[in-house]
Amino acid sequence: MLESVSECRKCGKVVSFKEYEKSRFCPDCGTFLLHPRRPKCWIFQFNPAMYRWFDWIEEKRDWEQWLVSQHAREIHKRDKAAIWASGEKAGFYAIGEVETDPSRKPLNKEQEKYWVNSLDVYKFEEKSSVIIRYVKLFVDSPLLAKECLRDPLLRGMEILKQPQGTNFPLTIEQWNRILELINNKD
Ligand SMILES: [Zn+2]
Repeated sequence: MLESVSECRKCGKVVSFKEYEKSRFCPDCGTFLLHPRRPKCWIFQFNPAMYRWFDWIEEKRDWEQWLVSQHAREIHKRDKAAIWASGEKAGFYAIGEVETDPSRKPLNKEQEKYWVNSLDVYKFEEKSSVIIRYVKLFVDSPLLAKECLRDPLLRGMEILKQPQGTNFPLTIEQWNRILELINNKD
């Protein structure tokens, strides 16, 4: 996982690093390929008092439009996302994949009513957002902040020190550790 890939700008073909080393041109359409990029890993944080994420998820949604308030230039399609709730039961509740590059788009109609204060919906007109597709939800057995604080890798996470914001970088080691810990809960 987290293998570097290049995506053809013309036809969208995803080319692995190995294929790219053999040929710099898209095997499907012949377009010159950009240098492969390894996906980055991010935390996306919500505040349950402001956004009813749990209700959205309960309706069996596997995607969601997310604000990108920080790192908009570094977040890209195919990056990894770990969803973090702030508050009393702070921790990770889902993981997914960023499905679009950040762009400024109004919030989709379906999600609007989940914002407690409808004025927050307008943030989507001022900032970029992405679509995240959920790969795994573990709402009933979250990886809580207190468990992260006991872990030598995760206790260094920025979100535990300076929790203001939506988007926080994770190292690949931290990402792998999160996967390991949530898989242990199964
Ligand atoms: Zn192509």
